[in-house]
Amino acid sequence: MFGYYPEDFTPQERALLQPFVTNVDRPVFCLRNLPEVVKGALFARYSRSTKSLRRLLLDEFISEPESGFAAIVSAVGESPAAQLIAARQAEAFYERVLIGYGDDSVAELGGAHLACEGVSNIAAKLLEDSRLGLSPLEKSTRYVRFDLPGPDGYPYLREPVIMGSPFAARYVAGMDRLFATYSALLAPVQAWLQHQFPRDETTTPRAYRQAIQAKALDMLRGLLPMATQTNVGLFGNGRAFEYLIIKLAAAPFAEARALSEAIQTELDYVIPAFVKRARSERGRAYAAYLSATREQAARLAAQIDAELPPGDTVTVQLVDYDPQAEEKLVAAIFYPHLDLPLTAIRELVAAMPDHERQTIIAAAVGERVSRFHRPGRAFEEPYYTFDILADIGAYRDLQRHRVLTQERQRFTVVHGFVTPPELELIGVADQYRAALEQAAELVTDLERHFPHEAQYAVPFAFRIRWRVKLNLREAYHLIELRSARQGHPSYRAVAQMMFRAISAVHPALAAGMRFVDQRDYDLERLAAEQRIDQKRQQLEQQNGS
Ligand SMILES: Cc1cc2nc3c(=O)[nH]c(=O)nc-3n(C[C@H](O)[C@H](O)[C@H](O)COP(=O)(O)OP(=O)(O)OC[C@H]3O[C@@H](n4cnc5c(N)ncnc54)[C@H](O)[C@@H]3O)c2cc1C
Repeated sequence: MFGYYPEDFTPQERALLQPFVTNVDRPVFCLRNLPEVVKGALFARYSRSTKSLRRLLLDEFISEPESGFAAIVSAVGESPAAQLIAARQAEAFYERVLIGYGDDSVAELGGAHLACEGVSNIAAKLLEDSRLGLSPLEKSTRYVRFDLPGPDGYPYLREPVIMGSPFAARYVAGMDRLFATYSALLAPVQAWLQHQFPRDETTTPRAYRQAIQAKALDMLRGLLPMATQTNVGLFGNGRAFEYLIIKLAAAPFAEARALSEAIQTELDYVIPAFVKRARSERGRAYAAYLSATREQAARLAAQIDAELPPGDTVTVQLVDYDPQAEEKLVAAIFYPHLDLPLTAIRELVAAMPDHERQTIIAAAVGERVSRFHRPGRAFEEPYYTFDILADIGAYRDLQRHRVLTQERQRFTVVHGFVTPPELELIGVADQYRAALEQAAELVTDLERHFPHEAQYAVPFAFRIRWRVKLNLREAYHLIELRSARQGHPSYRAVAQMMFRAISAVHPALAAGMRFVDQRDYDLERLAAEQRIDQKRQQLEQQNGS
């Protein structure tokens, strides 16, 4: 590599280093086989030392008895308790190194894969409501049936506050009915889909089966209540987990608070040094602050007496946008290529004729050959605020976008529910509606006594209102991804409406969104499943040749 001279390590040092680095003589390498605390402390020292990372590892960790290096490394793969003991024994050492770094971001230097199983969708949404530092994965309502019973029956949370109240029996009956309806409708819905969209010769039975099942599960997911239990995997760094633990501790749900404790306990086994502040006085005070400010805002909002506007259709309202967005965008496009102050560039751009600005925007968008070609940071200049009313199913999917600001209202039944039009044609819409209407009555009664817990009983078919503030660059990503053919029709409709709203006010800015799919499809997953088959065939051919 340019200008790099391999470091001098003795043969003995090389042998010591080798298990822990991907190479000992090149400038680019990865750490491996090291516990998170060692990697984190090593990186913390890195920014405060003249030594190379490998030299630091040798001098300050491997050869330093106080670091407990041998015990900690050999505890990897042992029981969680053994790892904890090893890390605790050297805690003072790591504390010194990490505190010596003196920055909150030190907690980003260690990470973990965390699994949260059997959590409700209320908890899943709280877990996923993190923008920085966490990557979530959740069991899909499209690929997995949710009606397979566990030891307690259908998989939904028997919420402890409700179960300890006179509503317990009604709650169980209402939730059971939702799951039983989901279960009962699956076969007729799949049969109708097969009849309506018979397999053609170019589609393999596997791809066809998957596409039919995905469509049927998509159509019926509206019956699943927020209490539905699911599995969420999170990969993230300690700092993000620390904030998550605090937010969960501040949440108005007993389940979330118990989850906060459980996450702390498990992360203490693998990255204790990076999440310890969540259980400190500072962490507790932060949680108390979050919950007090939320309650205070709720009390003030409760004094507002206004009538609920009718909300019986999906609406995507563009509430706010910058009328000078084009000028600001063009100035930002020029900015890195000039030495002038931003204000001066904006003045120059403001004096340009419209068509000239539009030519510059088109040039900055360039030849996008796929949605993965995202235009540059200048496109983060224009902002849009949307108020969206759509079914919870669509919200659950769109909530997963992180490079924006979004916040929801409560899960409720006051905005009504959506019925997939196909269910009318199949003749099962009445059953679907009856189960939802019964759940709505239960939620309405529960809300009077348990406003927070009542949300567990709300099925995904009901509408929810949420606000989204995002920049144009993220709008390109979200709208193109979420309007793609394989998406669920509910969120595809929201993405298409967002596109039309931006196009109406900023046609020149929306023109670059070339991969927005405005069409409707019958079997959304079919093309994607066919592509999977093609890839499989190619792989088989490669392996066979
Ligand atoms: C058809 C479809 C099926 C899906 N199925 C499932 C499923 O079964 N289970 C499931 O859990 N989710 C599923 N998802 C959700 C998906 O995993 C993403 O969470 C969601 O689409 C958000 O997309 P994003 O990360 O690209 O966007 P954003 O969060 O909006 O991020 C925008 C871009 O910023 C960058 N970025 C953001 N955060 C990070 C980060 N932490 N690290 C690196 N880069 C980052 C990426 O380039 C990303 O594309 C599905 C999505 C689609 C469209």
